[in-house]
Amino acid sequence: MIIIMKKNATEEEIKNIIKEIENKGFQALVTDGIERKVIGIKGDVSTIDSELFYKTGVEEVKRISRPYKLVSREFIPKDTVIDIEGIKIGGSNSPVIIAGPCAVESREQIIETAKAVKEAGAHILRGGAFKPRSNPYSFQGLKEVGLEYLKEAGEITGMPTDSEAVGESYVKLVSEYCSIIHIGARNGKSFELLKKAGKIGKQSRKPILLKRGENATVKEFLGAAEYIANEGCSDIILCLRGIRTYENKENGFQRYTPDLGSISVLKKKTHLPVIFDPSHAAGDREYVRSLCRGAIAMGADGLMVETHLDPDNAKSDAPQQVRPKTLQKIIEDVNLIYKKK
Ligand code: PEP
Ligand code: MN
Repeated sequence: MIIIMKKNATEEEIKNIIKEIENKGFQALVTDGIERKVIGIKGDVSTIDSELFYKTGVEEVKRISRPYKLVSREFIPKDTVIDIEGIKIGGSNSPVIIAGPCAVESREQIIETAKAVKEAGAHILRGGAFKPRSNPYSFQGLKEVGLEYLKEAGEITGMPTDSEAVGESYVKLVSEYCSIIHIGARNGKSFELLKKAGKIGKQSRKPILLKRGENATVKEFLGAAEYIANEGCSDIILCLRGIRTYENKENGFQRYTPDLGSISVLKKKTHLPVIFDPSHAAGDREYVRSLCRGAIAMGADGLMVETHLDPDNAKSDAPQQVRPKTLQKIIEDVNLIYKKK
């Protein structure tokens, strides 16, 4: 339930509403709308009569039965801007480029890649240390040592870092090494992991990068973000990465179906920044550059592009990783498109 105050509502009237909410045993969350204050009630309010809150200063009381409220644009009309060690994402900030290999493969590889992506114009370094692979015999990542190397590469190049926490027990570890805690597509419905990410994100003041589940609707994706926000962590970056349809990556087709249209839908439904990952969507480096152009033209707040110095010999996701030279061209495209808008 959200209570929309009148434009000219006084502090006293706002306080009265908060008191009423707290007397009922709920928590009130006050946010600044564009012209007025909005007060959200946290928790299961299905048994509360909304008439209770029609007091002086109140414009409207809305019952929200959707699985998401805190992340909705109705609750917070203004765009959320997240500051990642000085890099701002969301709102009117220019697109943020997260680049780096699918996986950290060695100390030298991640340091050299970090230098190359920085040179190409990237802002944030990515690199998986724990890799969620469909095949248990495929390269699983360097684990904690990979996080150490990633951190070092970030420090050398002055870039914030992003790496995936594949399960509940990895969230704290990732928060200790990285600037961003990344939750992968396979975990969009791992609710205990999402709650843990929200808790650790709040404690460590580290943003969460949440990928859309490969089978998740946009509503379910926002529900997953709500699990994180409900733990008090409001710095969430939504990352689209393609969804499963009838596409099949064999023989030059795409790995997933790029969900570019969802950028507009998310921009309408949520205040959170939205970025796009063309690499996992296409599964083929040939399609990555044009998808990046599309995503920025659609209004994405950033991109996550898998980049490798020698993609053909990458230990994971070899076909989809671009070379730093292509990343540079992508960033040039991004700057042109962003300026034109
Ligand atoms: C990744 O970005 O490292 C990754 C595994 O992607 P996804 O979760 O989208 O498959
Ligand atoms: Mn990958």
